[in-house]
Amino acid sequence: MSIDAIIRKDLDIIRDNLLEFKDKIRGSLFLVTGGAGFLGSWICDVLNSFDANIICVDNMISGSESNISHLYGQENFSIIKNDVSNLTISENVDYVIHMACIASPPMYQKHPIETLNANILGTKNMLDFAKRIKVKTFLFASTSEVYGDAKIIPTPESYCGNVNLFGPRSVYDEGKRAAELYCYSYHKQFHLPIRIARIFNTYGPRLDAKLNTQYGRVVTKFIYQALKHRPLTVYGDGTQTRSFCYITDQIEGLFKLMLVPELDGKVINIGNDEEITILELAKLILKLTNSKSEISFESLPENDPKRRKPKINKAKRSLRWKPKIDLKTGLHKTIEWIMSEN
Ligand code: UDP
Repeated sequence: MSIDAIIRKDLDIIRDNLLEFKDKIRGSLFLVTGGAGFLGSWICDVLNSFDANIICVDNMISGSESNISHLYGQENFSIIKNDVSNLTISENVDYVIHMACIASPPMYQKHPIETLNANILGTKNMLDFAKRIKVKTFLFASTSEVYGDAKIIPTPESYCGNVNLFGPRSVYDEGKRAAELYCYSYHKQFHLPIRIARIFNTYGPRLDAKLNTQYGRVVTKFIYQALKHRPLTVYGDGTQTRSFCYITDQIEGLFKLMLVPELDGKVINIGNDEEITILELAKLILKLTNSKSEISFESLPENDPKRRKPKINKAKRSLRWKPKIDLKTGLHKTIEWIMSEN
């Protein structure tokens, strides 16, 4: 089985932008947890394109076989279907990329304990492993959700957050906050070379590979609804905002955070700072898909952050990175991919 043309083209773009790191990647052994997920599978593909060796770990709760099955059978790729909270690895890997966690709000609310376990027990387990074998870098996938319903927009890394400990999102938000603290403490106490990416809303091919489930993130859910001529379900009055980063920009940022020298112990926002309301997003998707679907307004979930937009000066300065794909271009590619899958 091969990767479809849309993803192949985007992978070539990411590869071109990471050529300066090719010698660090080629031949090294990478452990990618959550490797069958949306971001994790793109990471595996980029590593593969540079002839790295990859151990992909996924318990398949939200990961999808279809994201990685094209790598099965290759000598440089192995898959372990296991939970990160009780995983044992014997190989001496060079890099750990710890992505494993359910990220869809309705899905992590359905699996609160699994979400906490992946973040807290899973992160501790992976940190202990990394400490034992002395990795070159431990990259942790954190989230904009550590800021909760942020009161400072655009939100810098120094913002302490506004999170409801007992809210419906807390297993994810507080789980990621605890995981960051674990990473940071292993760095302080054991000098483990951790790096933390605070990932803002990202979209593109493979987001919600299981497209017809109720757990879709907003971009793919709206595209799917528009293409199926179903109403676009805007929550609340749609004035809440998000800032959407296209997958190629996100993956390039993550690799740079992992590989640029002298960033151990650092926390960096990775995202796009082009802010849009959810109602505007719905209208834009209707236009780009030429859909006649209506917009139906439904109740706003509790603790849904009102605005989200990253401050990305630190990433621009430290990584010499900035997002390049605007929302319209990224949506076009995502729509094309979803149409090709259905
Ligand atoms: N949203 C919406 N309709 C949907 C799904 C999501 O209006 O069918 C809104 C949701 O309330 C939130 C935004 O879209 O304000 C982004 O939701 P998503 O689940 O993609 O991720 P979040 O950024 O909330 O983690």
